[in-house]
Amino acid sequence: MKPNKHKATHSAEREFGGALGATCIPVFLPLTVLYLLSVCRSPAASVLQWPPPLPPTAHLWDPLAAVLIVGWITLQSFLYLLPIGKVSEGLVLRDGSRLKYPINGFHALSITAVLLLVCLWLGMPLGYLFELILPLAVCAIGVSYLLSMYLYICSFWAPQHALSLGGNTGNPLYDFFMGRELNPRIGDFDLKYFCELRPGLIGWVVINLGMLMKEVELRGSPSLAMLLVNGFQLLYVTDALWNEEAVLTTMDIVHDGFGFMLAFGDLAWVPFTYGLQAMFLVVHPQSLSTLEAAGIILLNGIGYYIFRKSNSQKNQFRRDPTHKSVSHLETIATATGKRLLVSGWWGFVRHPNYLGDLLMALAWSLPCGMLHILPYFYVIYFTILLIHREARDEKQCRAKYGLAWDTYCRRVPYRIIPYIY
Ligand code: NDP
Repeated sequence: MKPNKHKATHSAEREFGGALGATCIPVFLPLTVLYLLSVCRSPAASVLQWPPPLPPTAHLWDPLAAVLIVGWITLQSFLYLLPIGKVSEGLVLRDGSRLKYPINGFHALSITAVLLLVCLWLGMPLGYLFELILPLAVCAIGVSYLLSMYLYICSFWAPQHALSLGGNTGNPLYDFFMGRELNPRIGDFDLKYFCELRPGLIGWVVINLGMLMKEVELRGSPSLAMLLVNGFQLLYVTDALWNEEAVLTTMDIVHDGFGFMLAFGDLAWVPFTYGLQAMFLVVHPQSLSTLEAAGIILLNGIGYYIFRKSNSQKNQFRRDPTHKSVSHLETIATATGKRLLVSGWWGFVRHPNYLGDLLMALAWSLPCGMLHILPYFYVIYFTILLIHREARDEKQCRAKYGLAWDTYCRRVPYRIIPYIY
C-alpha cells in the first residue's frame, strides 16, 4: 500500500515550545526520569547534591528488565482483548463515525491483582523491582521511542480525516512529538486508548507494591507511610479504571494525536515518576503519628471527593443533560448547541476536578515527611502540568464556544483555586 499523499491541511499551532520544545523534551524528560530515580535511591536524596548520584552505565541495562517490560505489555494487551465488560462508543469523529472501545480496564486490574497474589504466594521476590528499577525505566523509555516512531511512520498511510488537528504541521520533529494520527489502531486494537490507562497506570501500582515488599524484606513489615502511599495511589488507579469510560471524553483521546508526548507519558513518565514516594520510603523510612496519618487520610479523602464528584457531574451532564442528577443545574447556551454548566461543581471554579487532584497529590507526598523536596516532585510537576493543561483547554474552549465561554469566565472567575487562581 502506498503512503497517503493527500495534501493535509497543516495545523499552524505550536504548543509545548514549538519545534524547539519538541526537539528538547524527548531528550530532556527521559534523562529526568533516570535522574529522579537515581537521586531518590541515594542516601542524601537531595536534588542539590553535586555531582549528581548517577549510576554507572552498566547498571542501566539488564536483560531481565527487557523481558519483564515486553511480558507486561503482552499481558496487558491480552487482557485488553478479552471479550469481557461492555463496549462503548467514543465521541463523534470529524467524518461522522464513532469508534468502539472495550471498557474492561477494571477487569484487567483485577486479573492482574490475582496474578500478583499468586506470584507472592509462590514466593516470587517482588521486592527485586527496587533493584531493577533503572533498567526497567530504560526499557520503558526505549519502548515509548520505538512506538512513537512506528506511529509517526504509519500516520502517513492514514486518511486526512484521521489526523489530529494539532500534530500535523509538516515539521517532522514537532509532529513526531505531538502525534500525527488521532486514533491509530491495529485492527480494532486502539493503541492510544490502550496505553492511556493500562500498562503504565497498572504498572505504577505494581512498582509501588514492589517497593512495599522491599520494605518488608528490609524491615520485616511495611511502614504506615508506605501503606498510605500504596493505598492512596491504588485508590486513584482503581478509580481511573472503574470510570474508564470517562477517558473517552478527555482531551487526550478527543483532541491530541498519539505521538511521543503521550506514548512516553503513559509508558515511562507515569509509572516511574508518579511512584517516587514509595521508592523514597524504601531508603528513607519515616514514622508517622496516628494524628498525622489521620490528617493526611482526611486530605486525600477531601481531594478524592471533589475530584470524583466534579468529574462525574460533568460526564453525566455531557452524556445525558436531562438526567435527574444534573437536570436542575443552571447552564448557559453556546452557539454549538452544547451547554455549559455554571452551577454545581463547575460553578465553584472552572476546573474543580484539578483542585481535587492537586489535594490528593499533596496527600501522597506528606507521608514522606518535610525534610526532602524529592517526594514532592509529583505535586510540583502536577501543579505545572495542570496550569498548562488548563490554559490549553481554555484556549480550545474559547475557540469552540466564543462569547459563551467569556460569559462563563465572568460568571466563574477562578480557574482552579477559589479566590487565588
Ligand atoms: P476535563 O475533564 O477538565 O475536561 C475539560 C472539558 O470539559 C472542556 O474542554 C469542555 O469540553 C468541558 N467543560 C469545561 N467546562 C465545562 C462546563 N462548565 N460545563 C460543561 N462542560 C465543561 O479535562 P482533563 O482531561 O484535563 O481532565 C480529566 C481528569 O483527569 C481531571 O480530573 C484531571 O485532574 C485528570 N488528569 C490527571 C492527570 C494525571 O497525570 N494524573 C493528567 C491529566 C488529567 P466540552 O465542552 O467539549 O465537553
